[in-house]
Amino acid sequence: MIPFRIGYGYDVHALAEGLTLTLGGVKIPHDKGCVAHSDGDVLIHALCDALLGAAALGDIGMHFPDTSQEFAGIDSRILLRRTVALLGERGYRVGNADCTISLQRPRLRPHIDAMRALLAADMGIDVECVSVKATTTEHLGFEGREEGVSASAAVLIVAAEG
Ligand code: MG
Repeated sequence: MIPFRIGYGYDVHALAEGLTLTLGGVKIPHDKGCVAHSDGDVLIHALCDALLGAAALGDIGMHFPDTSQEFAGIDSRILLRRTVALLGERGYRVGNADCTISLQRPRLRPHIDAMRALLAADMGIDVECVSVKATTTEHLGFEGREEGVSASAAVLIVAAEG
């Protein structure tokens, strides 16, 4: 068994007016939210894909298909906890995670620490092991035009002792 492995994840959702914007489990006051089958938490989706990727366990769409009624409107934190449990079954725990959200508006700085705390709790690790960063794209691309939001995540998973 490899003692530690890295993973990378990326996700995009379209933004539309009148929907709730949930990022890293935190509801962000905004006039737009993510269009999605689930709650559209693009940050958690990228994180789940990074975790699954680290263990070469496929992707989020394979484990939690958006064609299934079971996942309609689901809180993505549930998907994150299930993903961590899947890794646990294979003898891995999360080491650390580093995430970046790209969107033009609103400013996320006031919400970053709340996201880190929720993600750390769901992954069963210390908040110091969870990094969440936010960037605009300087009005360039779909994020810059406020048509969508993207997120990426890099993680380390570690073989559990014993
Ligand atoms: Mg997604």
